Amino acid sequence: MADKYEVLKQFFGYSSFRNGQEVLVDALLAGRDVLGIMPTGAGKSLCYQIPSIMMNGITLVISPLISLMKDQVNALVQQGVNAAYLNRSLSDVQYKKALSNAERGKYKIIYVAPERLESNSFLRFALKADISLIAVDEAHCVSQWGQDFRPSYLNIISFISKLERRPVVGAFTATATEEVKNDIVRLLNLNNPLSVTTGFNRPNLFFSVLKHQDKSSKLLELVRKRNNQSGIVYCSTRKGVEQVCDLLNNNGITATRYHAGLEDTERVKNQDDFVFDRKSVMVATNAFGMGIDKSDVRFVIHYNMPKNIESYYQEAGRAGRDGMDADCILLYAKSDVSTCRFFIENIEDNADLSKEQKEYFRQREEERLKQMVFYCTTSNCLRGYMLRYFGDKYMRVCGKCSNCLGRFDTVDITVEAQKILSCIIRTGQHYGAKMIIDVLRGISSERIQRAGLDLQSTFGIMKDVEPSEIQNIIEKLEEQEYIVSVGAEKPVLRVKEKSYPVLKGKASVKILKAKQSKQKAPKPKASKPNPPAVDPELFNALKVVRMYFAKRMGVPAFVIFSDATLTDMCRVMPTTYAKFLLVSGVSINKLEKYGEAFLRVIREYMAKNTN
Ligand code: ADP
Ligand code: MG
Repeated sequence: MADKYEVLKQFFGYSSFRNGQEVLVDALLAGRDVLGIMPTGAGKSLCYQIPSIMMNGITLVISPLISLMKDQVNALVQQGVNAAYLNRSLSDVQYKKALSNAERGKYKIIYVAPERLESNSFLRFALKADISLIAVDEAHCVSQWGQDFRPSYLNIISFISKLERRPVVGAFTATATEEVKNDIVRLLNLNNPLSVTTGFNRPNLFFSVLKHQDKSSKLLELVRKRNNQSGIVYCSTRKGVEQVCDLLNNNGITATRYHAGLEDTERVKNQDDFVFDRKSVMVATNAFGMGIDKSDVRFVIHYNMPKNIESYYQEAGRAGRDGMDADCILLYAKSDVSTCRFFIENIEDNADLSKEQKEYFRQREEERLKQMVFYCTTSNCLRGYMLRYFGDKYMRVCGKCSNCLGRFDTVDITVEAQKILSCIIRTGQHYGAKMIIDVLRGISSERIQRAGLDLQSTFGIMKDVEPSEIQNIIEKLEEQEYIVSVGAEKPVLRVKEKSYPVLKGKASVKILKAKQSKQKAPKPKASKPNPPAVDPELFNALKVVRMYFAKRMGVPAFVIFSDATLTDMCRVMPTTYAKFLLVSGVSINKLEKYGEAFLRVIREYMAKNTN
């Protein structure tokens, strides 16, 4: 079989692995159990899907939700992988057919719910099958400490022990607390697993907390501004969902709703309406969640504050899974705190818990609630606050949350950066910051004259700028990895790859500066859905083609190509098959299926715009 990079490109259309993926793939291929803890949207599926394609036998993926399986299997089939799911959404006839296909070795990857592992017919199949890998997705479901405890996850271990040969086991989750981590290793009996935890930061998400008297008019304003983008509005109660959904619909926004009080059929229909872009906004309680793999959710608004940071980060994290910019906005009101407290006081009675345990849980929830309130009221960086909460590395100023933008201005320093960078290059990348500053300021010191640096074209081009200001910019350039300081004793500045587009005028450099005046901070601007380089005309034309195929194949639009892939298409503007394959997210299979149609649109666009 081909190597992992070929598989990555051929089936998934990507040319590089993301943080954490490659080591997990390698470990599984080498036969070692793994525990992958990565935030939502990081790309956990690929970590077991690539090995499953490369290994000889079958991979079983244990996944908690039927909707989740359907989307994943759809996506795999689209990519040319033989995959199927076995669950109760299939009729008896369909199930038997799928199972007999499985027995004949038709599928490489089979998704099952944990309950299925106990069914006799499935067990008969599994005992005969050659299973190379078992991937446990959403593995936190095995832990009572987690949010979505599923008792049947506890049976995975006995299922595995029944198999003649123990397959490699990989467990994946976004929940990183120590308790949950330990439970996963213990309750799945992972064998000396390679444990990989990637950072929790999601750089493409913009976080904001708004305190507003009139939440409904604020919500309308926020949603209207994001006209026709996919978004989720979370409310804490069913009644809240009904009201907010009506509010949006009465104001010309196509919204649908989801909560545990609805009939199954309506829930499924509403979810589909949202996933297939028939309705742009989903208003829901936290019952709407884990199974949502829709990658192009551009905003998640919390109409009420959730009860803890874990829930908030998980729900807000459903935005921007495709890696493109997305907004996470929380509308905070003091009254939300008492609603949460009410929920905590009335935690469902779990008969298995002793009185002390219940009291312990209550106190723990109370403490978590406090931390959630701090998030809403802090004036420090919101992202930093959450990352610290999760015990991750954090920054004091992220520059991409409402608190940071309230205190800082983004300043474009491209011209200054160009001057400094070209000075470093012209002087041969032999000097440290002090010398560079002197040259830029046009100081005719003896050393400069001796080296002939006063004859350089960059000599004196920043003579009106304070040395401390230039020093400051140099530090920022180093921080943002445009330059690097090499050598311990007499460090010299070198220019990194990233600088060349800046020098050619193809990229800009921005820094954050504390606001000077005391005037009130302007309202933070929401981040844009697409980088400015993309022409909306082309992007929308590509979206039309995508929708055409989505309808024809009966799959959600993002299963055909994600927003990130369409954006990259606009950037690369391929006109040939070979170039089309360079677009991130274009696999060989998809090139064959859709290439021609998308290429035609791009060619037409180019012809029109070059005349
Ligand atoms: P998770 O399960 O961790 O929440 P997914 O497996 O659903 O995340 O992946 C999220 C998105 O990231 C998907 O659209 C997927 O195609 C994309 N993705 C995964 N790996 C890569 C990669 N190496 N390069 C680019 N995109 C990737
Ligand atoms: Mg996942």
